[in-house]
Amino acid sequence: MEHVTERITLARLPSGVEIATTVHTYDGTEDGPTVYVQAAQHGREVNGTETLRRVHDRLLDSDLSGRIVAVPVADPLTFDRVSYTTPEQLDSVNPNMNRVWPGDPEGTLHERMAARLWEYAREADAIVDLHTGSPDMLTHVVFMEGHEGSRNLAEAFGSDLLLSEEAGDDADDEWAARDFGGKLRVAANEEAIPTITPELAHSKQIVEDAVETGVVGTLNVFRHLGLLDESVEANGDPTLARNHLGRVTADDSGLFRADPDHAVGDEVEAGEYLGTLYDATTFEPLQEARADRDGILYSLAQEATVTAGDTLLNVAWRRE
Ligand SMILES: [Zn+2]
Repeated sequence: MEHVTERITLARLPSGVEIATTVHTYDGTEDGPTVYVQAAQHGREVNGTETLRRVHDRLLDSDLSGRIVAVPVADPLTFDRVSYTTPEQLDSVNPNMNRVWPGDPEGTLHERMAARLWEYAREADAIVDLHTGSPDMLTHVVFMEGHEGSRNLAEAFGSDLLLSEEAGDDADDEWAARDFGGKLRVAANEEAIPTITPELAHSKQIVEDAVETGVVGTLNVFRHLGLLDESVEANGDPTLARNHLGRVTADDSGLFRADPDHAVGDEVEAGEYLGTLYDATTFEPLQEARADRDGILYSLAQEATVTAGDTLLNVAWRRE
């Protein structure tokens, strides 16, 4: 196995400062598929970066067949700001890097950055785009509904929830309204590259359980594709569910008290009580949040100060 690192320029800032990142390439002694793995295109989602550090240690003394290309910090701009998106002056058109794939070398800052990384990603036979949800979210893996290769990757990765998501014309109107067509997963699926988006728990903190799920899952993808001559390891207790982007949002602004008797991962029924939003000054209840369908509660807001329209909870449909 041969490991090399390359420092590449993704774009440049107005002052001429280059936005650079490091690309790791692990070349096996035997031939095999190429996998592209990246983390932290939303810079505060650091558990993916820590996952890649541990995977790196494992790969250094492995017998690898094929090639792994890994980018621990896909978006240095948001990484430095510990943020999800960039400030307006850096890219007012596309502040979210995961809405611009496959990018454009002559486009806005984020489009240029994505285009540079896409040169690596598009060569791959499979892609793992490591993200983290919020502390309110169950660790899960997202793949595109109807894309068999991506579903196989998700099953190999593991975690407690495998969530399929429809895309394009099949998806709810909300999908287009939120520019989800520019996600790396969607751009890659359009090129028939199997791709998954693991959402490890938490942002900003290194959370051991989430990172371990990420490490076992990422190695499982390599095992599943034959890059590592090992069998896929059990990783969580995966339930297969379908996300129709349905979510329960705040009708008004106030404080949200999540029902303490519920936690993410719970099986819930449509109409089940999950928390109360109230006026922080008068204590008047504004909204009782209830499950919008039978299924698995995979996010429940714990950050109590909410603004009208914020997501309070998400329930995914269980499927066979
Ligand atoms: Zn993310």
